[in-house]
Amino acid sequence: MRDSQWIDLAQPLRKDDSFGPAHGAASFSRETLWRYEHDDDCQVTVTRVNASLHAGTHVDSPLHFFTQGRPISDYPMDAFLVIELLRSAGSPVTASDLKSATPNIQKGDIVFLRFGYAEHFGKELYLDHPYLSDEAAQILVGLGVSMVGVDTLSPDLPQVRREAGFDFPVHRLLLGAGILIVENLGPNLELVAGSRTTLGAIPLRWSGSEAGPAVAFAIPSR
Ligand SMILES: [Zn+2]
Repeated sequence: MRDSQWIDLAQPLRKDDSFGPAHGAASFSRETLWRYEHDDDCQVTVTRVNASLHAGTHVDSPLHFFTQGRPISDYPMDAFLVIELLRSAGSPVTASDLKSATPNIQKGDIVFLRFGYAEHFGKELYLDHPYLSDEAAQILVGLGVSMVGVDTLSPDLPQVRREAGFDFPVHRLLLGAGILIVENLGPNLELVAGSRTTLGAIPLRWSGSEAGPAVAFAIPSR
């Protein structure tokens, strides 16, 4: 008998969504590869997608920011396992927010941060979002977490607030320490907010890529 139920923590992928100024929209073309001559309803349909790997819920690997960084395909599946969810409010999230977070962050944790922004996905409001301070990112590095996820476009200062010379400190700190980043987590994060539970994000690992579209999930125990 099932004693737990998987919760989908990803954003829905809708064909017309734009994924922000840097990533745009995905384009789709549908082809019929084969058609059964006796039945018009029977055919082989294949859709080709042209999209940024950063469209929708996805995981960034160090190669996203470092030319010699590890690609997503280098990460074994067991890097994407286990636990931790943390509710956090306010922007930016500070080092003391994380130090006083409940439940406590522990070494090796996957830390998903719920800012309450998933509901704005695909809308104008989504382009301006909470973010991590440099000090907060340093705390996560110091604690030795394995992965950090956010329900925003980025854990860094949003593009609309960046000034000339902005250098993506949070991406560089986390990815530089080998900590994977999950972006665009979905609204179901609310269902497991504030709890320690089994969760993760499993990316498609195209060989040599700097990121991978991901299935993000939680399996709350009952
Ligand atoms: Zn990304």
